[in-house]
Amino acid sequence: MGSPALIFLKHNIIYLKVFIIFFLSCVPNRTNLCPNHSLATLKVQRPPRLNSTNIVSSLETVGLDGYFSFENNHHAAKDFGNMYHFLPSAVLHPKSVQDISNTIRHIYEMGSASELTVAARGHGHSTQGQAQAHQGVVINMESLQRLEMQVHTGKTPYVDVSGGELWINILHETLKHGLAPKSWTDYLHLTVGGTLSNAGISGQAFQHGPQISNVYQLEVVTGKGEVVTCSEKKNTDLFYGVLGGLGQFGIITRARISLGPAPKMVKWIRVLYSDFSIFTKDQEQLISSENSFDYIEGFTIINRTGLLNNWRSSFRPKDPVQANQFSSDGRTLYCLEMVKHFNPDDTKTVNQSIENLLSKLSYIPSTLFLSEVSYVEFLDRVHVSEKKLQAKGLWEIPHPWLNLFVPKSRISDFAEEIFGNILTDTSNGPILIYPVNQSKWNNKTSLVTPDEDVFYLVAFLTSAMPSSTGTDGLAHILTQNKRILDFCATAELGIKQYLPHYNTQEEWQAHFGLHWNAFVQRKSAYDPLAILAPGQRIFRKAIRTS
Ligand code: FAD
Repeated sequence: MGSPALIFLKHNIIYLKVFIIFFLSCVPNRTNLCPNHSLATLKVQRPPRLNSTNIVSSLETVGLDGYFSFENNHHAAKDFGNMYHFLPSAVLHPKSVQDISNTIRHIYEMGSASELTVAARGHGHSTQGQAQAHQGVVINMESLQRLEMQVHTGKTPYVDVSGGELWINILHETLKHGLAPKSWTDYLHLTVGGTLSNAGISGQAFQHGPQISNVYQLEVVTGKGEVVTCSEKKNTDLFYGVLGGLGQFGIITRARISLGPAPKMVKWIRVLYSDFSIFTKDQEQLISSENSFDYIEGFTIINRTGLLNNWRSSFRPKDPVQANQFSSDGRTLYCLEMVKHFNPDDTKTVNQSIENLLSKLSYIPSTLFLSEVSYVEFLDRVHVSEKKLQAKGLWEIPHPWLNLFVPKSRISDFAEEIFGNILTDTSNGPILIYPVNQSKWNNKTSLVTPDEDVFYLVAFLTSAMPSSTGTDGLAHILTQNKRILDFCATAELGIKQYLPHYNTQEEWQAHFGLHWNAFVQRKSAYDPLAILAPGQRIFRKAIRTS
């Protein structure tokens, strides 16, 4: 199966349509993808390509502890989004950092005569082909997982982990020492390299910043094959470039993650609002308070029936009689979700603290629901849903997700249009919405956020029913996503995409704004041939005709 179009045809006609739309939208722009700097100095024309036999024999000369696979690599042409499928020429299963360095150095030394690119693949949970490399080399980072995790206790505890390590494994390992990372994602079956290339955001980010603000040191293999250790003090530019750098400047092979004391248990609380402005006022008050909750998120509920009944399997209502009388039917509601950590011997103190915090909020009183679970159970909560969806065959379907950062000053304009006009009947999946404090986010990283002290993460986590042409079909959801983005642009809300996805260089330039020049400079310093992370479609490898 050489061509992506063939794979699409075999899988599903919807994929074929999406691919055609994507392909057509890319074609006129492909020659624009090299920015006007040193990366573009070579003439871009169709080269005499290395054929697959040549690629295999060329890569076979690379000295490795692990191995390449040249066949049956279809898993590397798939991701959680299930919308983009680009088949690589080879998959590297590295056993050592040197394997990654040797492979990249080999491709770098082939220079611009070769079209080969390299994508690190963490757990493949991107949604738009970001970890794929069309006819290139995909590095299966999880093969590196076996590098030992090392927990350092003491005054400033940390753990050294492989870039291909899953966060769930880090949790289990660090808990053996009574410690845990401070900042998480909602789902832990993602790799360190994958989330650090983006940001890694969850309900702790208002207090601790995202995961990229909680890293002390990285080991990185650059686009020239060099292995570099970097930190706030050493090779600083590379360190901050790689954090949130969408895999553009190097492959993270090791990371030193900051740890804090881990609680044993959590109190997990949900309350509902029907008024958006009261909901956000309470969220904002909570994220600015001293001694607040340890986790603060929120989500929007559109047109759901029996909502509170569904919660009863894991939460108990504070007032069962009043909760029974509450009806959610047909309304758009907003759920504030909070967690407070505790250990069994401080139950009394934590209950008092929660009561005090809740007394300042203005939720609908009958909708207070509580639960008490272990810290691990809470952090690994999405995995429970994953297993249920997998059993129903609903995990491996298209996920046209859209994630946005919306400045606080425009969140009500955003909500009025999105929840009042665009998403009125159904949402096709959860819509997370919660504020964070910019001051806790390190602004030296490559991540771009709105220029305000407080901004919201709004995540439309949609699933599309395969072959549906209705409101739960891929075409409809993609149209809705476009309407949302068009509104944000027309109303000049000043949003930024998180886990961004664009097709033209102009759009990338606008995304990075004032930071674009620095981003381009880092690219030419650390990956001058544009070998790395081609699936982000920011830069294109310049090819020399001979
Ligand atoms: P991949 O998809 O494999 O890779 C992502 C990008 O990073 C690619 O460009 C890849 O080339 C690059 N990359 C991968 N490994 C490395 C490396 N070692 N060095 C350099 N570059 C690398 N995100 C949040 O912030 N918060 C959430 O709560 C959250 N929840 C999620 C829940 C689910 C169910 C899913 C599917 C995703 C969620 N995400 C969340 C998004 C997730 O953080 C990103 O999709 C992340 O990239 C996935 O990690 P991965 O290991 O699968 O990376």
